[in-house]
Amino acid sequence: MRIARFSAAGSDPRYGVVEGAPGEEEILVVSGDPLFTPLNPTGERVPLADARLLAPVIPRSKVLGIGRNYADHAAELGNEVPAEPLVFTVPNTSVAGPGDPLPIPGWAGEELHYEGELAVVIRRLCKDVPRERVGEVVFGYTVANDVTARSLQKSDGQWWRAKGADGFTPLGPWIETDLDPADLRIVTRLADGPAEEGGVVQDGRTSSMVHDVPSIIAHVSRAMTLLPGDVVLTGTPAGVGPVRAGQRVDVEVEGIGTLSTPFTAPQD
Ligand code: MG
Repeated sequence: MRIARFSAAGSDPRYGVVEGAPGEEEILVVSGDPLFTPLNPTGERVPLADARLLAPVIPRSKVLGIGRNYADHAAELGNEVPAEPLVFTVPNTSVAGPGDPLPIPGWAGEELHYEGELAVVIRRLCKDVPRERVGEVVFGYTVANDVTARSLQKSDGQWWRAKGADGFTPLGPWIETDLDPADLRIVTRLADGPAEEGGVVQDGRTSSMVHDVPSIIAHVSRAMTLLPGDVVLTGTPAGVGPVRAGQRVDVEVEGIGTLSTPFTAPQD
């Protein structure tokens, strides 16, 4: 099931289930937030084409990210693969929606990188989750672009703005609740303009993760209580690189969909 958060005709954000064949999808509107209330269809249907999709979840407490979780990506940046997951936090203000333009901050320098990733959305309050029970605490999966100011990531030491600046964590297009994350293809495309087809710059599989989803959730929940709506990014495969104003990055995760982010100049 695909759970979307959306706005139509300028309405406040609402939630719905996306159904239908590609190109003909409709949003079956539900009352309340499916993370906190049982699915209750209102009977209203909105064509997906008439809706503006929003970030499918706004984490109330945190986004956790995992660095260097694919050996080929660690190697391309000259890093070793960490024995334990390398965990970082970014604030919920870094979350943006599918299609939201991301103005490239002037302070980010030349090296603003895309990182296509699978993102885990937590279902319920949990702590010390054993590997074998991780499925019980996962609401679903979405697509993330873990946008990174690469030079500042090195020079700042802490990654607070290199990964946590406003808009640096686009999520979407929706949350897929019925998905096995063990072996999904992740493809990132970089396009020079809205009308142009993007070239493939990342093409990996989640089966190549150093620490898989159950290991990651078990690990982070040993130190931090996870809350409903918390998001855990799972790392990026090889092929990261710079994006400049005027380009669009499309991240596609098999079984979920495609997250598009147009990058713009700050004055746009
Ligand atoms: Mg990343």
